[in-house]
Amino acid sequence: MRSRTLLSACVGTLLLAMAGPATSLSAPAAGSGWPETGGVPVKCSADDITPDGRVFPEPQVSATWLSFNEFQCGIDLLEDQNRDRIEVVVLGRSASDHPIYDVQVTNESIPEEQKRHLLILSSIHGNEPAGREGGARVIEDMVDARFMASEDFIQETLDGFVTHFVFANPDGWVDGDIYGRNDAGVLYSRQNNGTPNRDLNRNFPVHGFLRASNGTLDQPEGRAIDDLLLDHADTTHDVDDPNNDGWYLGTDNHGQGVKPVAASGLQIVGEFDFMKSERLAHFADRIEGAMAEYSVLDVIEQINQTTDGAVRPYEWGTLYDILGYSASGSGIDYYNTPGKVAGTGYATEMTGATVALNWGIHPALVNQMWVNSVRAINYSLMRDAVDPPSFTFPVGGEAAFVFDPSVVTDGDENGFGPGNESIPDNFTGNRDDVDPDFEFGPYEVTRMKFFDDLNRYADRPLDALRVPEVLEDPTLLDEYDSLVLADRAMPQSGDEAAWVAALRGFVEGGGNLIVTDGAAPIISDLVDEIGPEDVTMARRDVGYVDFGDRGHALNAGLRGVASQTYDVIPIGYPDNAGQAPNWLVSESAWTAAGGYTAGTNGTGQTIYGELPLGEGGIRFLGAVLPEPSEDYFHPYGLQNYAVTYTGYTLLENMLDWQRPPQSAT
Ligand SMILES: [Zn+2]
Repeated sequence: MRSRTLLSACVGTLLLAMAGPATSLSAPAAGSGWPETGGVPVKCSADDITPDGRVFPEPQVSATWLSFNEFQCGIDLLEDQNRDRIEVVVLGRSASDHPIYDVQVTNESIPEEQKRHLLILSSIHGNEPAGREGGARVIEDMVDARFMASEDFIQETLDGFVTHFVFANPDGWVDGDIYGRNDAGVLYSRQNNGTPNRDLNRNFPVHGFLRASNGTLDQPEGRAIDDLLLDHADTTHDVDDPNNDGWYLGTDNHGQGVKPVAASGLQIVGEFDFMKSERLAHFADRIEGAMAEYSVLDVIEQINQTTDGAVRPYEWGTLYDILGYSASGSGIDYYNTPGKVAGTGYATEMTGATVALNWGIHPALVNQMWVNSVRAINYSLMRDAVDPPSFTFPVGGEAAFVFDPSVVTDGDENGFGPGNESIPDNFTGNRDDVDPDFEFGPYEVTRMKFFDDLNRYADRPLDALRVPEVLEDPTLLDEYDSLVLADRAMPQSGDEAAWVAALRGFVEGGGNLIVTDGAAPIISDLVDEIGPEDVTMARRDVGYVDFGDRGHALNAGLRGVASQTYDVIPIGYPDNAGQAPNWLVSESAWTAAGGYTAGTNGTGQTIYGELPLGEGGIRFLGAVLPEPSEDYFHPYGLQNYAVTYTGYTLLENMLDWQRPPQSAT
């Protein structure tokens, strides 16, 4: 069997092999009189001739990447020719004083108040050209009847939305343009040219854990984009309210290292209710089909003549599922912030961009694959925007959850305690040029908000039960098929033995007790073969499950590379720091008690499974809905929960339970 590494090597070789005649284009001396344009070539006036007649020719007939200058003259020409649909806006100036473009594409005859906004963030990492290469072609496609302009969904997008094509990192772009021109360096750079250079995709004031060393909003690019996002945010209307005139779908198009796929989709994780989570999954799924429509598959076929069939079109998962890490301060995370920007955003990675690139190294076929992939992504976004899909969360029985009345708030004893008692020296969010009046953001959060939100979309909403009412009358539980204990086994005080007896009676009588996260120790109270020492908590980078048999009903509906169940940043845990609680039961004890393990987390540790008990049973998931943490720096506040699309799938599967029929008495 061919290893993944070998496949990757093939694509890497391919990129280099297709690099083209780099020597003839590289490194002219500074000020050597090279023309401002004339590489691709791009049209700067209507009379200019390009190989395929486009303003921005297709990569396959282009000699080079788009230089920043060529992009400027091409986009100005398109604006001139399409004043009713294109407006080129400059959001501000980069650290190296280049304009930060927001190319707005919309039907200008319809007032902006009647529209919503879409975000297409392109190449915020300057050494990942796919986003901007694709973005420029998509803008042209949208206004030219030879390409996409007469498609119904494009016209509906123009009528109903302002689509913002934001080119976030002109410095990183110019850095790899013709050496010496515009102070260009040798290679495109991931960062901007600030002091210090910054990863602009860590520069945003996200709600949740914030890594102070990322330089929150200390760069003009970060501040300019923040202003744009806040200018159009609508936090007063529900996402489906016709009066909502804020942000809707967004995508942040990147490049990744060499992998055997043309592109990867990154499902962002935050306080996403079920509808938002499913809409993003629908968008993610739709991209693969669109890749056939926009000829990505044709290009892959050509590439595969070199790589022996190594390149597949597409995969998607969370950032952790795909790349194995989380990150604090990213632009698209911030776009999703509930109550602040309130967008619905996704991110993508086109493959092969970690090969060092500059203007002279242009693998034309690979760039064509990227540009067509960006078409598939951006057009999928528009198709879903004009026709939003709708979803219902199925609950397979009558269900309740045990309500926890406590909340986590900035006003509690550790609200500005360990994690927030002081501002780290390297935090820039309070700098005069960022926010001279900085104050810690207020918050009042609880994982219980997850159930409120879920009930808006559940076919059978879950009831909230309180510990005292159950203790007073345990027969209240008789009417439920499933009962959820989320993160705390007994969230209100009372007679603990009576509480355990009530839960035992519920399970033995045929009920399905769903135990999550920190509620896990109750399992040793209910199951004789499992002792307190068999239930432990391990700290990981995120919540995750290594799934076993995907044919088992508990694992039904899992997508692709699914593993992550919750994310850390939104609920206050640091990224890549091994701090996220994952609750585990010794697999040998679980099995000895008759339990089935559907997923593990560490060797010999059950994190997901079911265990029959009496007429009913226990279903356990040790990582999905922990209470937000105040233990780490969270200057802008916290979010209530951060359940992934996989977490929703597992909850749906665990809730699929109905009591066995009662025998006649
Ligand atoms: Zn990137």
